[in-house]
Amino acid sequence: MPISLQLVVHDEGGEPATITEIAQFERGGLDVGSLGLHLEEAKSLLGRLQRTMVAAQVAEAVARTSVCPTCGAQLACKGHHHLVFRSAFGRLSIDSPRLYPCRRCKGDAASFSPVARCLQPVTFLSDGGETVRFAQLGFGDRGEYVLDWFHIAMRIQNLEQMIKGRPAHCDGPSNTALIKTLHGAKWHLWHGCPYPALRRLESLGWDLDAEASPEEAKLLGKLEEFIVYLDNNRHFIVNYGDCYRHGEPIASGFVESAVNQVVSKRFVKRQQMAWRPRHAHNLLQIRTAVLNNQLRSHVERWYPSTAREEDHRLAA
Ligand SMILES: [Zn+2]
Repeated sequence: MPISLQLVVHDEGGEPATITEIAQFERGGLDVGSLGLHLEEAKSLLGRLQRTMVAAQVAEAVARTSVCPTCGAQLACKGHHHLVFRSAFGRLSIDSPRLYPCRRCKGDAASFSPVARCLQPVTFLSDGGETVRFAQLGFGDRGEYVLDWFHIAMRIQNLEQMIKGRPAHCDGPSNTALIKTLHGAKWHLWHGCPYPALRRLESLGWDLDAEASPEEAKLLGKLEEFIVYLDNNRHFIVNYGDCYRHGEPIASGFVESAVNQVVSKRFVKRQQMAWRPRHAHNLLQIRTAVLNNQLRSHVERWYPSTAREEDHRLAA
């Protein structure tokens, strides 16, 4: 008995449905070996189903986004590239066109990939401060939230320095033992396990005695602060080790250092082309408008004659 499985994709615009054959099976008789699906068949069937479904969804999204939303003109294609999408049924290579925005409506804006825009995962790195944490939640389900590893590592380093400066007293564990517990907590945090890390840090707190010395009281205060900080941000602690090995971002240090280099350099006094705060502010406004593709419309609003010139140029 031949059995075949088809995927039917219906078109919302009234075009005929697309039918793709996903799998074919041949079964004869009825015994344990031929009853229903085999594991290998199920795997390849799901893989094929996934590829066909993804291709249909991508094609629909590309068709929808390759016309200008303002005037309806077909957008010019710059070329194609492949995006890799990791799905539950294996890695998929997705053909993704790069399109130029409508010249008439958007001017000379940079080309874009409609598929990447929809699928590109966004990683929100934060220092765990309350305002930043709530701001990033405003983006909904669009990305992954990661507590910046730099801020964890820096706090652990501070604690370690404080333990080293703690005067030894006869009762209680040695500074070496305390540092070992701290490193254990750090290891769990690096591997994305906040709960065992918190348990270790709490046990570290029990070993400390606020009455013993002012240094130890200060250390205990900092440790408790760190525990509250981690507890508030526990949902944003990822497997940093794994991310690091896969080249994914775990710290925003590279952005901060770039900002530092660019901005602080320009603020050094008596240097050529030094900026004043007001001018730096204006420059940032322009950079933001360029990135948002709004510079042209801003200029046209300030100087309406430039818009008319553009119209004449297009008409000619
Ligand atoms: Zn247009």
